[in-house]
Amino acid sequence: MASAIRDIDHLIVGGAAGASARTGDVFNPNTGAVQARVALGTQADLDRAVAAAQKAQPGWAATNPQRRARVMFNFKALVEKNMEALAHLLSSEHGKVIADAKGDIQRGLEVIEFCCGIPHVLKGEYTQGAGPGIDVYSMRQPLGIGAGITPFNFPGMIPLWMSGVAIATGNAFILKPSERDPSVPVRLGELFLEAGLPEGILQVVHGDKEMVDAILDHQAISAVSFVGSSDIAHYVYSRGVAAGKRVQAMGGAKNHGIVMPDADLDQVVADLSGAAFGSAGERCMALPVVVPVGEKTAIALREKLIPAIENLRVGVSTDSDAHYGPVVTAIHKKRIEDWIQTGVDEGAELVVDGRGFELQGHEGGFFVGPTLFDHVTTSMSAYKEEIFGPVLQIVRAQDFEHAVRLPSEHQYGNGVAIFTRNGHAAREFAARVNVGMVGINVPIPVPVAYHTFGGWKRSAFGDTNQHGMEGVKFWTKVKTVTQRWPDGGVGDTANAFVIPTMG
Ligand code: NAD
Repeated sequence: MASAIRDIDHLIVGGAAGASARTGDVFNPNTGAVQARVALGTQADLDRAVAAAQKAQPGWAATNPQRRARVMFNFKALVEKNMEALAHLLSSEHGKVIADAKGDIQRGLEVIEFCCGIPHVLKGEYTQGAGPGIDVYSMRQPLGIGAGITPFNFPGMIPLWMSGVAIATGNAFILKPSERDPSVPVRLGELFLEAGLPEGILQVVHGDKEMVDAILDHQAISAVSFVGSSDIAHYVYSRGVAAGKRVQAMGGAKNHGIVMPDADLDQVVADLSGAAFGSAGERCMALPVVVPVGEKTAIALREKLIPAIENLRVGVSTDSDAHYGPVVTAIHKKRIEDWIQTGVDEGAELVVDGRGFELQGHEGGFFVGPTLFDHVTTSMSAYKEEIFGPVLQIVRAQDFEHAVRLPSEHQYGNGVAIFTRNGHAAREFAARVNVGMVGINVPIPVPVAYHTFGGWKRSAFGDTNQHGMEGVKFWTKVKTVTQRWPDGGVGDTANAFVIPTMG
């Protein structure tokens, strides 16, 4: 018996406006079947959300930060209580295995933990006696209404990166999640309400380009945080800034893992199994390029990599023994397989071919087998562009200098890793490489929540990163007050302060 197809609606104060004229299919990537239809919203849906946000935001901004933090504490406890259900829901729409789905939510919760300390973070600065009888202090105030536009690959973590900091700092926040796996963002919004967040402070609107454009052009929205592919990130950045908004827009990636001749190759291979193939390679901090330094390293690494890759278990996302599950859609599966063909056409050596992979009993699922290329060169488009699938490319470097140049000269600059036992080489590499996030013997160097996340070059547009103090800066504006309380009280003209010098 075919199971019923769910409807996924916006989470807007006052409820749904009625059936949406347009909807998008949400698939179960394990089977290929449509399991839900998500509303694709319009300007009118956004206007309703903005009106509710405008009504709620001043009261929320005036709520003392300790009370705002209490909502964060409650929310964290509720998410933890609902972790199993959230992870299964996430996995059923995205296709990542349950352990990865829990990790996705957990990394987002770590930003909520950071937000529990928001009273401390918002304390501001103070100088007593900056001039005679004069004190100067600064405060961080919310922007008003912010919006977040998020990608499919972290439907738990990335909405929480943005919404946590935006809300904790006193803004109202409107989330437009990926239309491919929108259910977890809606559940998170519901749990925020259950945690005591006032209605209108976090709302979820669904949609595609039409909704994104409405957000970018809306005069009542002060800031937009975006994460997705680079062309769209650039478009969002340009259009949002042109409309007078503060915009941060994180884009795509092609992260390199440098393997020095002294690296522990067994450790590197184990790390690459997770970093290149975990979550089917659908991570912006995945390591899809491995760079062995010197021929001997390349030969030894390749010898160890091949059996490790051939032994990876691809399975349905609920299979606890599966290394990774299906990719998100049939279109994405085709795109990955087309890139593999491009690599072949461009002359790379296809060592392990993951195309045409079928899982018995799940022939309609969007599975791609693990794939390995060797002798990939910098002139190939399959090297230059992001594939975002379970495809690892070996690019051989002659020496350390060559290895530093490869990620530095690539159009993307999200993350990079170096595997070595040589502290000097690691230190040099970290200092010189032209990439935003560096791992030293850490394959996926996603910074902890109280540091900050952001790449360089075409991996990020705008100058402020996600979460940590950079996130707080993005979601607030600074006001600086210079105050004087003259001795003689009101009307003491003898102490007139005409020219603002402090001498
Ligand atoms: P995407 O760019 O297709 O979609 C991202 C968001 O943009 C979605 O909400 C989508 O609805 C919207 N969108 C799509 N097309 C649009 C258009 N033409 N106009 C306006 N809006 C549009 O990205 P995706 O496939 O969902 O996610 C994968 C991409 O995200 C990869 O490139 C990955 O590297 C990147 N990513 C980057 C980071 C980072 O922090 N740098 C993190 C995660 C993912």
